[in-house]
Amino acid sequence: MIRIGSNSARSRSGGGIRIILAIGMAIFAIISYMSSQSTNEVTGENQHISLSKEQEIVLGYQSAPQMEAEFGGEYPDNQVQARIDEIGERLVSQSVAASQGWEFEFTVLDDEQTVNAFALPGGPVYITAGLLEQLSTEDQVAGVLGHEIGHVLARHSAAQMAQSELTNGLIGAVLVASDTNTAATAQMVAQLITMSYGRDDELQSDWLGVCIMDQAGYDPSEMVGVMQVLQAASGGSSMPEFASTHPNPENRIARIEEALNNLDQCPGRG
Ligand SMILES: [Zn+2]
Repeated sequence: MIRIGSNSARSRSGGGIRIILAIGMAIFAIISYMSSQSTNEVTGENQHISLSKEQEIVLGYQSAPQMEAEFGGEYPDNQVQARIDEIGERLVSQSVAASQGWEFEFTVLDDEQTVNAFALPGGPVYITAGLLEQLSTEDQVAGVLGHEIGHVLARHSAAQMAQSELTNGLIGAVLVASDTNTAATAQMVAQLITMSYGRDDELQSDWLGVCIMDQAGYDPSEMVGVMQVLQAASGGSSMPEFASTHPNPENRIARIEEALNNLDQCPGRG
């Protein structure tokens, strides 16, 4: 009897401490997140980002060698690389991207099997030889690079990092406070939130890509051609970054067409 009584007392007080600790963790996570609010200069949106631009650039270029290695390293054909440098340079210098202080660098990756393109925080942009091979015009190449420039300008990686810091903080709090079932539920909810952020990010990058193409004198309607290439390629085994966890391509094309009809609403105009 005594033993039972003291056990339950201990577990009650342990529970109380756990709850207080959990509430502390949750409050800390939320305050950290809320206090990092800033307005994105390109999209005009409020974002929660805990990194400075400088930190973001350092982070991106620090992770660049590893990402390059994962996709076969740099493409050995210097002429192809020089062409990509030229297109990238034109897109950045003649668009809203020019005045934002990011350090863009465009690299062709020596991976013929993977149809993919991606951007790291702060400016490193990559396109695989496999994707390059599928694109039929320079405007389409500009479309892919423009979309990736869009991710950098909109600071999608940094915003997602802040988001997952918050999520991890809250999941940690739930884990501390209660049983694993609840934590599993919290994890599921968190994943749903993260996925919907990804979808919006892709649509926003499509829009920014169209704007950047237009500003740099490329044919922005070729972004639709890019989507068609990706649609065709996603029938294969390797899913392109654009087409994997993201909105269905029809919806994406519809949104691109909407952007094409509203070029006057592009950032950096007027
Ligand atoms: Zn993307």
